[in-house]
Amino acid sequence: MSAVVDLRSDTVTLPTPEMLRAMATAELGDDVYGEDPTVRRLEELAAERVGKEAALFVPSGTMGNGIAVLTHTRRGDEVICDLTSHVYDAEVGGLAVLSGVQARPLESAKGLLRSEQVESAIRPDDVHFPRSRLLCLENPHNFGGGTVAPLALMAELCATARRGGLVVHLDGARLFNASVALGVPAAEIAAHADSVMFCLSKGLCAPVGSMLAGPADWIAEARRARKMLGGGLRQVGVLAAAGIVALETMVERLAEDHANARRLAEGLAGIPGLDVDLETVQTNMVFVEVVARGLDAASFVAGLAAAGVRAGAVGATRVRFVTHKDVEALGVDAALRAARAATG
Ligand SMILES: *Cc1c(COP(=O)(O)O)cnc(C)c1O
Repeated sequence: MSAVVDLRSDTVTLPTPEMLRAMATAELGDDVYGEDPTVRRLEELAAERVGKEAALFVPSGTMGNGIAVLTHTRRGDEVICDLTSHVYDAEVGGLAVLSGVQARPLESAKGLLRSEQVESAIRPDDVHFPRSRLLCLENPHNFGGGTVAPLALMAELCATARRGGLVVHLDGARLFNASVALGVPAAEIAAHADSVMFCLSKGLCAPVGSMLAGPADWIAEARRARKMLGGGLRQVGVLAAAGIVALETMVERLAEDHANARRLAEGLAGIPGLDVDLETVQTNMVFVEVVARGLDAASFVAGLAAAGVRAGAVGATRVRFVTHKDVEALGVDAALRAARAATG
């Protein structure tokens, strides 16, 4: 058996040699005192790339989203999001626990909300109602299939929120995948949102870290929230150094991940017993419905693992494959062979 092809997530990517060199030689200081020059450099670079005044290094995307909600809202406020969004579905109830807010999750078509839906979910001013305060968008949308919301929809949703007096946070964990897929700068996708979070640790291959960006005075408040949550780190330039290399060298190559995902999806779609919605394959994710008689997601994933290929069961019959730097074209071929064996 050759080496394992791990398609569970792009978070399994290992740092590049250039990242490791940058980490070993980074200039460091205590970042809680604001004295780590490498972190400052990363925060400036990140802010510039997403078109915001300031940015903050955070240990994870989950903490970045949690800090964003905490900083945008007050207890009892309502947060509009979609039912399959990461903030609602995969952050351990953080909306309720950390911020004491109430979620207003809406049904979406593969992660894409419509502006009329958002409009009708915004509460009128009434003593009985929670205050609608925040709209959370996600682009690309993970559980929607890695689907990308077009710029016009982003603008429309944000305008609707703003008309209703809401602010907007964009969960852009894989923002640069959306940027590559749309062929526009990340800043354009984030342009109408008040704040944006993106991960350095996914397809961009840094070992740890995410960035939260927004207006400078808002980021100053977010910095306090980060400290409260225990996310104020000391010589964290050792991690930021990898993040700088990630932003400078790993964005354009995401196109290869997208091409590999497309080829994987088309191959999987041709295997009897598997259904793939090829329309949703827009970035580096492929979601497969296991429809073969007598097979479910867990047994399909076990069959893949027996052939040295790892994928993630994300429902009773749903399996997710994520392409990334450490899976090349040969890995896609191996995955297709394993999928044929596991279904046949
Ligand atoms: C991965 C992910 C996050 C959380 O990032 P972590 O670094 O894993 O905490 C948030 N939102 C989306 C859409 C994600 O895919």
